[in-house]
Amino acid sequence: MQSPLHILQHTFGYHQFRDRQQEIIECLCQGEDALVIMPTGGGKSLCYQIPALARGGVGVVISPLIALMEDQVSALRELGVRAGYLNSTLDRDTAWHTENAIRSGELDLVYIAPERLIQERTIGLFKESNITLFAIDEAHCVSQWGHDFRADYLKLNLLHELFPQVPKVALTATADERTRQEIVARLNLHSAQQFISGFDRPNIQYRIQQKNKPREQLLRFLRDEQQGNAGIVYCLSRKKVDDTAQWLANQGFNALPYHAGMSGELRQQNQARFLREDNIIIVATIAFGMGIDKPDVRFVAHLDLPKSLEAYYQETGRAGRDGEASTAILYYGLEDIVKLRQMVEGSAGNEQFKRFEMQRMNTMFGLCEITTCRRQVLLRYFGDELKEPCGNCDNCLHPPDTWDASEAVQMALSSVYRSGQRFGAGQVIDILRGADTEKVRQFNHNQLSTYGIGAKLSTNEWRSIFRQLVARGLLNVDTQGYGTLQLSEACRAILRGDEKIFLRRDITVKKSEPVRKRVFDIDEGDIPLWNALRQRRKELAEEHGVPPYVIFHDATLKEMIIKQPLNDEELLDISGIGDRKLEQFGEAFLEVIRDFEYQ
Ligand code: ADP
Ligand code: ZN
Repeated sequence: MQSPLHILQHTFGYHQFRDRQQEIIECLCQGEDALVIMPTGGGKSLCYQIPALARGGVGVVISPLIALMEDQVSALRELGVRAGYLNSTLDRDTAWHTENAIRSGELDLVYIAPERLIQERTIGLFKESNITLFAIDEAHCVSQWGHDFRADYLKLNLLHELFPQVPKVALTATADERTRQEIVARLNLHSAQQFISGFDRPNIQYRIQQKNKPREQLLRFLRDEQQGNAGIVYCLSRKKVDDTAQWLANQGFNALPYHAGMSGELRQQNQARFLREDNIIIVATIAFGMGIDKPDVRFVAHLDLPKSLEAYYQETGRAGRDGEASTAILYYGLEDIVKLRQMVEGSAGNEQFKRFEMQRMNTMFGLCEITTCRRQVLLRYFGDELKEPCGNCDNCLHPPDTWDASEAVQMALSSVYRSGQRFGAGQVIDILRGADTEKVRQFNHNQLSTYGIGAKLSTNEWRSIFRQLVARGLLNVDTQGYGTLQLSEACRAILRGDEKIFLRRDITVKKSEPVRKRVFDIDEGDIPLWNALRQRRKELAEEHGVPPYVIFHDATLKEMIIKQPLNDEELLDISGIGDRKLEQFGEAFLEVIRDFEYQ
């Protein structure tokens, strides 16, 4: 039996275990059960792949992510691991061959969909084979309360009855207590050792900006920071998805739309390109979800506000599964708050439901408006404590200014009041700024005592004030869809002048903030080498019929740039290059590096 460390270094090409990987692997190698809760990108796969290899026999990995199986298996094969998969996409012949290989012990790992596993035929096959491990990935799918419930997952408790001797490991990134208890109960993991890590995704940089020509903001972000990278842009409506994708394509990006209104075929095609190529931007509604866990998504941008922190965390969580630096950027404005409030008010649910949804939305607005570390707030919401500010969110990197807005807020509130609480922010701002529009004249708003008293502030500054007042619940928005503003109980004290109010000074960002100016921390001068390495990777990926990240992760290419290896030994020193990959691809990459070295 090879030791886990030997397998880690020679097969996977990594130097050392991360966090609790070693403990988990040892637990399984000793034949015990385990429950592993680790954030996305934390390195769950090795926790079952290495024990499966170390224990000999066949390790079975149960996963609902059918779309990913082929790539996962190709990735293992490129490492020299004997892997296969069984799901409904396989033709009979291939399935038959795979089954035979399991029976005769010619495979180390087999991925399987839950519905396939519970068939009698499969159970029979496994009974005849030497199965040495069951890994139940995405184990939160047993939870009937979660987003991803799969009825077939409930039947997985039969593993406990039919294969009592085979160790089981359940893995998920969903960390809440209730889900964890459900997993233990439903999968019969009462005696499993639990390995629980927090929720944090430290490699994701959270940024939230006030909307101000959002398309241009997005464009600047993409041009300044994300050239050639894969990412997701989320929009609320199908139409906006189509328009935005078209517009980005016109700007020279490889942008493709994805929403439930498109034909299944086209959707499939766009998703496949996203997975296969390394510089596709998918513009999508939230229908773009499970099954697209591409590891090297470098950014997730929201052009509309998600309706809860849960949704925000899940959607932004699709960035950086490979653990590399990634960005989650959200643009939001007053109209987003108004739109979401109206959606909930106008929804069919009862009062209690609406109150609950409103509360969830308010925590989302809260995250947008805070002036302290965003990650601390996010993690606290999910029951995780981060002691120090993270240093990797916009508020940490560029602490926002606040200003005493008491006087301006009084002006704003009394303008709302004096115009009869019948108008939206646009009209009230026109009143404050003393605009001479037809609508102002029509309603005699130029006669109001507040007409023109706020001319010193720009329209954008006023919009920022109104947005923050609505987000804080000092102003309510009507339910009929006109965006009419009304005073709330809470604003009395401010109107009386009893309470001071400090607001965030929105930075009018001229260029996209120079948070991380260069793509992926690569020096300007190294970009040609970076591009050449990526080009070589692309050629090899095409040759092997796999996505580029299966050849090497971005992190591995990046390390090549830093270390500039010139021979095999130096290559082996790079994380992600094991024996097999060295043999297969080493020379091809050395060639590229030498070309640059001797120029
Ligand atoms: P998860 O399934 O938890 O989302 P993965 O298993 O896909 O995460 O791992 C995320 C990334 O981290 C992968 O690129 C993987 O190769 C890498 N990784 C995992 N463990 C290690 C390690 N010990 N050293 C270096 N890289 C690792
Ligand atoms: Zn922070």
